[in-house]
Amino acid sequence: MALELVGSAPEQDDDLPLSIRGLTVSYGEKPAVFSVDVGFQPGQMTAIVGPNGAGKSTLLKAALGIVTPLSGQVRCHGRPLAEMRARIAYVPQRASVDWDFPARVLDVVLMGLYRDLGLLGRIRGQHRARAMECLARVGMEGFAARQIGQLSGGQQQRVFLARALAQGADLYLLDEPFAGVDAATEKAIITVLKDLKAEGATVVAVHHDLATVPDYFDRVFLINTTAIAEGPVSDVFTPDNLQTAYGGRLALAQMGGVAAG
Ligand code: ADP
Ligand code: MG
Repeated sequence: MALELVGSAPEQDDDLPLSIRGLTVSYGEKPAVFSVDVGFQPGQMTAIVGPNGAGKSTLLKAALGIVTPLSGQVRCHGRPLAEMRARIAYVPQRASVDWDFPARVLDVVLMGLYRDLGLLGRIRGQHRARAMECLARVGMEGFAARQIGQLSGGQQQRVFLARALAQGADLYLLDEPFAGVDAATEKAIITVLKDLKAEGATVVAVHHDLATVPDYFDRVFLINTTAIAEGPVSDVFTPDNLQTAYGGRLALAQMGGVAAG
């Protein structure tokens, strides 16, 4: 799928749940992601932070093989992505999903099981029970028969998290899971993510709310087309690094929140 860059992959990063080397992705002439090297640490929650158009969603999509990079390499536990897809769960940006698509909530969650089922596999009671368990985990067990398009934004987001849970992955990639959701949903989602982490899973989430980064995440990856910094929140989530990432676009109010947090 992609070119390997000679000498660009330090050996010790090979075992990480997700390791990205020399990644460049372009939709047109100007790259959306340029020459990014980053590794995501096991059993940690990492926020991907950067301004609009910084390439955050593109980075996740390239990590999942949804978009094809110009160059670079993605490894999952040291293996090529294609071998590891079953271990990676993805919750796309809610705004990117067609919510008019007619599907019941339970069917959406069952989609998370398609690798277990096979394309033509029969859905059995055990699969429905597993899907219901995952709905219960996000507080949506009462909505199984509803059409997904009839739910609120927060409820839709919970259902997509339930679909990811059904997959039983150990790496969770989420694109702005808290964007446009109600406070109760935000709390439900962060509780599930912290539980997943406690169970040993690795969580990587694009996150837009700078104020909650220190509460929610262990580590931060700052990006604005190129990688700016990755590391523990206390080391990397600094006004200087944020200024580099956001430039003039960083509102003073947000800086105040960061300094206080
Ligand atoms: P972010 O998620 O950080 O807001 P994106 O990864 O969505 O950023 O986008 C990065 C850049 O790539 C932006 O300039 C955006 O306009 C462009 N872009 C994203 N998706 C597409 C696409 N499907 N076709 C063309 N350009 C795109
Ligand atoms: Mg995005």
